[in-house]
Amino acid sequence: MVNTVSFKTTKSDEIFAAAQKLMPGGVNSPVRAFKSVGGQPIVFDRVKGAYIWDVDENKYIDYVGTWGPAICGHAHPEVIKSLSEALEKGTSFGAPCYLENILAEMVIDAVPSIEMVRFVNSGTEACISVLRLMRAYTGRNKIIKFEGCYHGHGDMFLVKAGSGVATLGLPDSPGVPKSVTSDTLTAPYNDLEAVKKLFADHPDEIAGVILEPVVGNSGFIVPDAGFLEGLRLITEQNGALLVFDEVMTGFRISYGGAQAKFGITPDLTTLGKVIGGGLPVGAYGGKKEIMAMVAPSGPMYQAGTLSGNPLAMTAGIKTLELLQKPGTYEYLEEITHKLISGLLTIAKNTGHKVTGGNISGMFGMFFTGEEVHNYDDAKKADTSKFARFHRGMLERGVYLAPSQFEAGFTSIAHTEEDINQTLAMAEEVLKEIPA
Ligand SMILES: *Cc1c(COP(=O)(O)O)cnc(C)c1O
Repeated sequence: MVNTVSFKTTKSDEIFAAAQKLMPGGVNSPVRAFKSVGGQPIVFDRVKGAYIWDVDENKYIDYVGTWGPAICGHAHPEVIKSLSEALEKGTSFGAPCYLENILAEMVIDAVPSIEMVRFVNSGTEACISVLRLMRAYTGRNKIIKFEGCYHGHGDMFLVKAGSGVATLGLPDSPGVPKSVTSDTLTAPYNDLEAVKKLFADHPDEIAGVILEPVVGNSGFIVPDAGFLEGLRLITEQNGALLVFDEVMTGFRISYGGAQAKFGITPDLTTLGKVIGGGLPVGAYGGKKEIMAMVAPSGPMYQAGTLSGNPLAMTAGIKTLELLQKPGTYEYLEEITHKLISGLLTIAKNTGHKVTGGNISGMFGMFFTGEEVHNYDDAKKADTSKFARFHRGMLERGVYLAPSQFEAGFTSIAHTEEDINQTLAMAEEVLKEIPA
């Protein structure tokens, strides 16, 4: 059952050691490096369904799902089949292709705020582009984002929300000039009063508010009752745009994303992750009147050599088709709720203070006894305990995101048996860790 005895990482360690001489930190995206759990990453060999095999042939139940896209399970046979057929016709046209229409129609039908859409190649690109559009449309420069929300690595979004809510953001990363982030205002998540104050302090200067409607990038944090409604109202009252960054939540917490789930329609939406079905895709869309600003329909420039390529469109189309099967989101809710409620119960029974939850196939657990409503609350969680938990689970064949501040994901490929196995392993690990 348990593979702790056989767990070895000889090949992973060798490959990662070599990688560190070739790429910064040995990786092409920072969180992959396992830095916050104090270990070495495992190097994958292959993925299928709910499982991962590493180069040392350890097998894991996967709750990262390549950070969200693998909602149908990795390498779903129907997605692979469609991709192989598409491959025969070529990988990129750099010209219109009928598949773009199909995916665009599917996205427009599903996501309430989207009447017209532009495909790009990543969530970061979608967010950078939507920011330009917010400014182009309103003729205003400032935006409000929330502390702990991630909108990709565009300069304007790399802002550490410091002390005061009305304080202008400081660059979070060297290389981001102060002049670029001085228009990024920040507020604590779930704090409507802070948002109102920013609008009062900067009348007619704020283009809009962008947020993760359910946070996944500082751990799993849900919007308090009335928060999204409040933002909708405040933005309308101030002639500003409301933008939902649904790169993570789109087609994840419901087919129409958070906006369908909560019944709040933003002006603009960004998408990514799931709509690419495991290939690089992002998208932004919204009201026709706003999207008409985008070139060549309008003057706001944004372009992409590989945007809308037939492979990415194919993976997206097939993935969304699979998600349309009745019962998909009910199944994700059922297994994910079983997982998180099981984890919380086991943790409490073994003396650990925890809080957590899920919406459909997105979940999270913090090692803190207090409720988490924003990033400051999240930071109170015991990250060294999380690191031990993470390592224990890894050694027992369960792959969790290597950070307390990341949401977890299930897929339709996860079975009850996988969940039971995960809970059994969690019990072993949590018993071992001092409460
Ligand atoms: C992942 C993510 C992004 C960035 O997407 P990339 O494809 O990694 O560039 C942006 N916003 C949110 C909410 C995300 O979860």
